[in-house]
Amino acid sequence: MPAYATSAIVLRAVSYGEADRVVTLFGRTTGRVSALARGARKSQRRFAGGLGLGSVGEISVRERAGAELLTLESFDVTSSHASFGSDVARMAHAAYVSELVSKLCAPRQVEISVYDWLATTLELLDREGATAERLRVFELGLLGRLGFGPMVSSCAACGGERSGAGPVDYRWDPERGGAVCAACGRSGRPMREEVRATLVRLAETPLAEAAARTLAPDINRGCREALLEIVKQHISGPLHSLEFIAKLGGHP
Ligand SMILES: [Zn+2]
Repeated sequence: MPAYATSAIVLRAVSYGEADRVVTLFGRTTGRVSALARGARKSQRRFAGGLGLGSVGEISVRERAGAELLTLESFDVTSSHASFGSDVARMAHAAYVSELVSKLCAPRQVEISVYDWLATTLELLDREGATAERLRVFELGLLGRLGFGPMVSSCAACGGERSGAGPVDYRWDPERGGAVCAACGRSGRPMREEVRATLVRLAETPLAEAAARTLAPDINRGCREALLEIVKQHISGPLHSLEFIAKLGGHP
C-alpha cells in the first residue's frame, strides 16, 4: 500500500474506541485526509506531543486496502501551539479556522497556498493571541485562494468602480459574487459603505499586520456577516466552532 510523508496540520481529532483516535489532517501535499492513529489514546510515545487541534508536524500515512481511512504511522510535531490548551479564545479561533479549511476543501484536494495561509494564521494566533481582525483577513485570504473570493472593490456584475462623481450605492449579493452596484439591480441587501471599504482594505492586509488593524465592533460585525454569507454558499450544515464561540458568549 502506498505511503506518504508531508507536513500536516491537525484539523480535528476524535476518540475512536478505547485506544485509538481518528484524526483529520490537512497535508501540504495530500490535502485533507482522515487517518486512524492506533494507540493514540493509550500511548503518548508514538504521537508524542502531537494530535492536538492546530498542531503542525511531519506525518507519515499509509493507504489501507479498500478503506477511506488512512493509517497514521507517525506524527513528529514541529509546532504544538501549547497556548491553545490554556486560552479558550485562542482554542476557539483555532477551531474556527480549522473547520473553515476542513469544510471548504474537498478530501484530497491539494491546496499548498491554503496550507501555508492556515499554518501562518495558527502561528500568529499562538504568538499574539486571538483577534477578530485576523479572522477577517484569514477568511478573505482563504476564500480568495480557493477561487471563492468576493468582489469588493468593484461591482461583481458589471465591474464598475466607484467614480469621482460620488459613491456607488452598493448592495451585497453573495449569489452574484459580492458587492453589486445600484445600476445592476436591487438584488441582495443594502451594504454600508464603511463595511465594503473595510473589506477592500482587509483583502490587501498581510496576516502579520492584521492584528494591528482595529475595527469598530459594528464594522467587524458587518464584515463577518458578509463573509459568512459567502462561506455558506460553499458549505452545507452549520459551523460547529461558531456555535461553540456563541456559547462562550461572544462572536469572533
Ligand atoms: Zn454593476
